[in-house]
Amino acid sequence: MKTERQYKNDILEVCKRIYAKGYVAANDGNVSVKLSDGTFLTTHTGRSKGFLTFDELVKVDGEGKAISKGKPSTEVGMHLGIYKDRKDVKAIVHAHPVFATAFAVARLSLENCTIPEIVTTLGAIPLARYSTPSTEEMANSISEHIKTSDALLLANHGVVCVGFDVFDAYYKLERVEHFAQISFYARMLGGEKLLTNREVGKLREIQGKYGVIGETKECVTCESSVKEKNDVSKALAKAIQDLC
Ligand SMILES: [Zn+2]
Repeated sequence: MKTERQYKNDILEVCKRIYAKGYVAANDGNVSVKLSDGTFLTTHTGRSKGFLTFDELVKVDGEGKAISKGKPSTEVGMHLGIYKDRKDVKAIVHAHPVFATAFAVARLSLENCTIPEIVTTLGAIPLARYSTPSTEEMANSISEHIKTSDALLLANHGVVCVGFDVFDAYYKLERVEHFAQISFYARMLGGEKLLTNREVGKLREIQGKYGVIGETKECVTCESSVKEKNDVSKALAKAIQDLC
């Protein structure tokens, strides 16, 4: 088992990477880790993730109250809400990477089945409805999705990823941002071509080889997208008929 010092080292390493990659600006973003005694380590409020020190990692209890020196992240309530919903989660990373946040600001989810690595590791990446940061409302909007997804877009805000350790959560953040960037460029080139149900089915069969053991939310395949379009067309046709 890791010592508290090792957990702190891991958090600092991930914070430096988040800052170096431009996933946060200034003092944005927050990271936390669950310790074996049921307490948590979180980043200090109002500090740049690129320059954090050991003393700027704050230990909090299950209510978010500081039990060490310093002031915890203002988003500690959101983190604790996720830990309550997901007992398997041991670390959480929240940031505002540009492409994924652009999707979140445009209120677009990342649920299309297009890239095998995303289908097998994250599945669909849903969009949680907008809520004011640092409020209970925000914890509730996340709670609607976090039980079935390890990565979420937060409308008009950013991204939250969870993991079995802080590096796992960080790598998911990297994947989300990479996927958002590819999806953006694919749309500039005329739009993504979705995988078929059959192709996605084959990927699910080999999911274990990617080290994925849990469930992932099903993404949108080309068949389901055609079905959705047909459903919308049928509904529109009926509405027009009703009007006539
Ligand atoms: Zn934020």
